[in-house]
Amino acid sequence: MDSSILSKTYQQPQSNILADVCALAAKMDNVIDLSVGDPNFTTPQPIIEAAFEKAKQGMTHYTAAEGLPELRQAICDFYHSKYQLSFDPAQVLITVGAEHALFIALEAILDPGDEVIVPEPCFSPYLEQVKMAGGTPVIVDGKAADGFKIDAAEIAKKVTPKTKAIVINTPNNPSGNVMTAEEEQALAKLAIDHNLLIFSDEIYADYVMPGKQFTPIAKFAPENTVIVSGMSKSFAMTGWRIGYLIGPDWLIRAANDVNDAVTFSAPTMSQEGALYGLQHHDELVAPIVQAFQKRLSYLQEELPKISWLDVSPVEGSIYVFADIRATGLNSVDFADQLLKKAGILVVPGLAFGKCGEGFVRIAATQPLDKLEEAVEKMKKLTW
Ligand code: PMP
Repeated sequence: MDSSILSKTYQQPQSNILADVCALAAKMDNVIDLSVGDPNFTTPQPIIEAAFEKAKQGMTHYTAAEGLPELRQAICDFYHSKYQLSFDPAQVLITVGAEHALFIALEAILDPGDEVIVPEPCFSPYLEQVKMAGGTPVIVDGKAADGFKIDAAEIAKKVTPKTKAIVINTPNNPSGNVMTAEEEQALAKLAIDHNLLIFSDEIYADYVMPGKQFTPIAKFAPENTVIVSGMSKSFAMTGWRIGYLIGPDWLIRAANDVNDAVTFSAPTMSQEGALYGLQHHDELVAPIVQAFQKRLSYLQEELPKISWLDVSPVEGSIYVFADIRATGLNSVDFADQLLKKAGILVVPGLAFGKCGEGFVRIAATQPLDKLEEAVEKMKKLTW
């Protein structure tokens, strides 16, 4: 038997820019890895201990498919106290990470041919997920000149009778932008006027630079918004795989039906850890967020001193999207050469969409001394 048994979609291996660069890096020693969006911190100890204790007490079974009732309630409490948004636990579904949350929600709403508008540059799985759920992704190219802002007017141009949803991500991976309340209001109005859903990926909600503010778009389009978020980034819990959806109860019910056929419930011990984390959000998240703010401020200040690099202001997330057009190289060649010449691994902007060409994403997921080492190495390079 050979691979021709694979579905037609998977018979031609798809190019995966990030995987190619990482494969090269894996063969090298002493690489400074600024590629992955995985905070370098270990999950706060009290979360680990709380989950471990619950496991020892016998919390080793499935939970309800929708998730632990206490965790769904804790998510509602958190949104109420932090953002003054009122949700009912029936509007919350616990998932195996935010990525899984978005997929089952798309699967629940899309019929073949339905369109989903995706502003680029973006977290690349969005496009694949729309296609896997039977829809057609419709891309809106961001503009380097305005720092790749998500622009409701540009999105409006792509709305057709087949459009069902828009996927946004703020604070943004990879651009580092945070949408303003005015920008969100304009998008909310568009969604309400055209009866569209907004899938709002808020996984970096806690990562906002001083002076900037994140407002959930659900404030402006409560009936049209589906929040996609999770524990991975704020609590350095990427490996625990806990995310969630918050949306209209009819959508949550359908997403839960989809999920019944996929994973049933999210891991029980991880849900227990997430519950402890959310109940102690501020004290556990603050040190992690502060460390990232310090790193991003450092990169923001030092990178523009390199003649062939430019950086627009970082408003949030854990990334800097750096302009490398002055090198004359495309982003894939640049990343390849940066790895070979300086042992630094970054992600080519092309991995986030065609409009990301000429940029690379630098993740601040290494301690400050490693970032300093990387910057010193970059300062010595010429192209
Ligand atoms: N959304 C965005 C924008 C991300 O950058 C990531 C992780 N890199 C995810 C979702 C995935 O989150 P999770 O680990 O909860 O699946």
